[in-house]
Amino acid sequence: MALPLNELFDSSGSFIGGRWTRAEGNRSVTIENPSNGEIIARIARCGPDDVERAVTAAAAAGLGAWGQSTAAERGRVLLRIGTLVLEAVDDLATLEAIDVGKPLSQARADAVALARYMEFYGGAADKLHGQTIPYQSGISVCTIREPHGVTGHIIPWNYPMQIVGRSVGAALAAGNACVLKPSEEAGLTALAFAGLADRAGLPAGALNVVPGLGNEAGAALARHPGVNHLSFTGSLATGRTIQAAASRNVTPVTLELGGKSPQLVFEDADLDAALPFLVNAGIQNAGQTCSASSRILVQESIFHQVLDRMANRYRGLTVGPAIRDLDLGPLVSARQHAIVTGYLSQTTGLDEAARGTIATDAPEGGHYIEPVLLSGDDVRHRLAQEEIFGPVQVVIPFSDEDHAVEIANGTPYGLVAGIWTRDGGRQLRLSRRLKAGQVFVNTYGAGGGVELPFGGVGLSGHGREKGFEALYGMTQLKTIALHHG
Ligand code: NAD
Repeated sequence: MALPLNELFDSSGSFIGGRWTRAEGNRSVTIENPSNGEIIARIARCGPDDVERAVTAAAAAGLGAWGQSTAAERGRVLLRIGTLVLEAVDDLATLEAIDVGKPLSQARADAVALARYMEFYGGAADKLHGQTIPYQSGISVCTIREPHGVTGHIIPWNYPMQIVGRSVGAALAAGNACVLKPSEEAGLTALAFAGLADRAGLPAGALNVVPGLGNEAGAALARHPGVNHLSFTGSLATGRTIQAAASRNVTPVTLELGGKSPQLVFEDADLDAALPFLVNAGIQNAGQTCSASSRILVQESIFHQVLDRMANRYRGLTVGPAIRDLDLGPLVSARQHAIVTGYLSQTTGLDEAARGTIATDAPEGGHYIEPVLLSGDDVRHRLAQEEIFGPVQVVIPFSDEDHAVEIANGTPYGLVAGIWTRDGGRQLRLSRRLKAGQVFVNTYGAGGGVELPFGGVGLSGHGREKGFEALYGMTQLKTIALHHG
């Protein structure tokens, strides 16, 4: 029987050392429902003192019950958290839908993914092994993987549950104690997660949550000398600031930043299979997805056919309140709406192929925007180069393989790429040539897959989350050489 989620956490508190407390000065940040503009919560606005207490609590947990637990015990706790998350899936989905405007079924998929991360990392905790290394006669060498200690996690608003799962899940499994700073736009499910983890028996201090503003709580965490590893997911600009702040203490940083991910469609592709992926990868979460496929590169001979079919799909797309679970919800905030609208006022040089529709009964105060499909061959156009972070895709023609690769690799980003072709040689050739951390062939995962290492090259960031790679990243390797004669 599912627990009443709202009894497990304090939406206006921080969670430090296993206790719900108010932010210093009892300061708060107002949270609105982006589907109608109504105020739904006031989350804590933590400052440097709160972050200090959280880092201290995490360090104590590392020396105490959590640090002394065996890998198998840590795995069991994570599995229990996963079970509680699954029981609370519907409540978590509703909370996310009203907090960030994500259509209910997409929010539900995120909650299920959060549970999957707990299952994956719970199962992996005791399978994180070192190696033995052949060396000189009379000396045995082994490596062991040790936790960093206190890990800081600064996350964005677009996939809060998934990013908590992949980042905190891997860190806890490896034996770290975490301080999590959720986005000021989306703190509720991170707080609910802390309540579930507490109920599942996670020792006090192993997970601390300090909601608040980026330049306050976030900055205090990034520069804190007691933080031994930082995991950041968010924008390029903030990633640069955080890496600079972390460099003072030479703290290792994982950066998961943005993208301008292409899908390449060749004339021998199975278009019926490709079409749903081409569009969905651009409009999922209203395009507010780091691995959104915002560029669709199509071979000239089938360009108009693909564009027409995508345009048909766009004309049928409906935007409305998250709770109605339509194709798209609103954008997360008025600020994000202004950013996307700003891009859409600069389309000169591109052709508009189609746009979707905002439901007539969508509330006035919601941050709704119609999804827009554009086309053109100006690959240097701003809208074909920059991350818009809204439901906008640009369809671009190419002549042959070399041309396709040149366009695909022609942005400073490199997060995900998709290839649609039946030619086996081309599948592998292009997988190797494309600048991306993940390449999907005849499918597109939009960063999906708990098991699949994920991360970028170039301005998309460095380090890998998800899968076993994230576990390795959440440890430091020690080499032990023992002379026994
Ligand atoms: P953002 O950079 O504005 O904020 C991300 C987090 O950083 C928030 O918690 C924010 O409070 C914090 N922050 C802001 N300024 C800070 C500072 N000076 N010091 C420390 N922390 C600070 O990003 P956003 O608008 O929340 O998210 C959108 C961006 O995130 C997009 O660029 C998107 O591509 C990227 N993103 C990437 C991935 C990925 O896995 N690669 C996933 C999701 C989102």
